[in-house]
Amino acid sequence: MSTIIKGGTLVTESDSFKADVVINGGIIAAIGRNFTPDPGTEVVDARGKFVMPGGIDAHVHFQLPFCGTVSSDDFENGTKAAACGGVTTIIDYAIQVKGRPVMEAVENRRAEAEGKVCIDYSLHAGMTDWNEKSPRDMERLVEYGIPTIKMFMIYKAQGWMADDYMLYSALEETAKCGAMIELHAESVFVMEGLIERYHKDYRRLGAWGHALSRPSFVEEEAVQRAIKWAEVTGGRVYIVHMSAGASANAVKAGQERGVNVYAETCPQYLLLDESVFKRKDGHLYATCPQIKKKEDSARLWQGVINGDVSLITTDTCTFNKKQKARWGGDFTKIPYGLPGVENMVPLMYTYGVGKKRFSLNRFVQLVSANPARLHGLYPRKGTLNIGSDADLVVFDPGSKFTIRPGRLQTNCDWSPYDGWKLTGYPAMTFSRGRLVARSGKFVGTVGAGKFVARAPWGSIEGRIKR
Ligand SMILES: [Zn+2]
Repeated sequence: MSTIIKGGTLVTESDSFKADVVINGGIIAAIGRNFTPDPGTEVVDARGKFVMPGGIDAHVHFQLPFCGTVSSDDFENGTKAAACGGVTTIIDYAIQVKGRPVMEAVENRRAEAEGKVCIDYSLHAGMTDWNEKSPRDMERLVEYGIPTIKMFMIYKAQGWMADDYMLYSALEETAKCGAMIELHAESVFVMEGLIERYHKDYRRLGAWGHALSRPSFVEEEAVQRAIKWAEVTGGRVYIVHMSAGASANAVKAGQERGVNVYAETCPQYLLLDESVFKRKDGHLYATCPQIKKKEDSARLWQGVINGDVSLITTDTCTFNKKQKARWGGDFTKIPYGLPGVENMVPLMYTYGVGKKRFSLNRFVQLVSANPARLHGLYPRKGTLNIGSDADLVVFDPGSKFTIRPGRLQTNCDWSPYDGWKLTGYPAMTFSRGRLVARSGKFVGTVGAGKFVARAPWGSIEGRIKR
């Protein structure tokens, strides 16, 4: 069961150099030159290609019941799509049903994933209750291998919302037990008021009503408030799917004061802008938070380049055209979400490295090393170390790929990037040493992925690299 990947250029967040990689038992066993392979060793020719640690998408929602339907990529097809796009680990969510134990949500979600996942996965735990038992629940999650707790500042009706005191109390606990709050930050009262205001005119506004009702300050204000609670408690907060330029300013200011605040953004916030909502099919692009203005994208790119944004994720929550059609012209009824995991790595390569916005090493840091480090997976994943899991991508920088929904593994019948031309695409994806995708086609084994317990904050070497 050994493989040698020969002749490629190894790329990590810090180095690029020519070397061969020997994989044994799913682990990187050796890195060097001029190995003589044992008989029976599979030899992979990586000449002219990059060999990089597999992408890590720390924000996906497979088979999520949401907005009256269920997201159409399940754990099986979603992880197949991930593998095709050079992603070797995904982190999904287990959201507590209010009044029920959070651990029950974790076990239920694991039961849904087991036997279906084709690459390794982990879960964030969504806590929707806070009472005298909750600090112990958080500790238990950390011990279990789930050091990231999702909280929402919105979704009152779904019973998911954390009010400010709950968030404050949870942040106090994170400082004690090595956990981090992953936060959906939007300002609930103003947002709901604006939704109600624009809903009066929904027939005329169409999908544009979605953009009008959630201006950038709706996110920015919530981000500022969360940073304040993190600052006074000494807790750790991580802003998911950051979509507004002003939020990046707030994160930067917080980081400069020494607050433990981190942020992810997603390709849709970098590559698209709110003009999509004026298109005939604008409702397809509705996601939450929604895609903002050109100047927001520009500020987010700046953050991706200079470190205010630590990593890229996708917030994949796939709804096909038929599901999206449920809106019937009412922007408040659109199933919110976009496909994404399959194109994250190549999009960031083409528009980041290809457009000379950042280096090849920063690219690996954004899609692999930093997601691993922030989520307690590093250095088991996110790098090419001897002893690390052999989760790697042989990336062909010269390969041309035009995005067409029919060419992708995702169950989505449309793509936000339909017709976009990419240069650079994963040629091969390995998950713990097994070939799982070749030239965008899944060739792995259904159910071979494993749940990965993650390490608490503070137990791993090195903080986030800016
Ligand atoms: Zn999400």
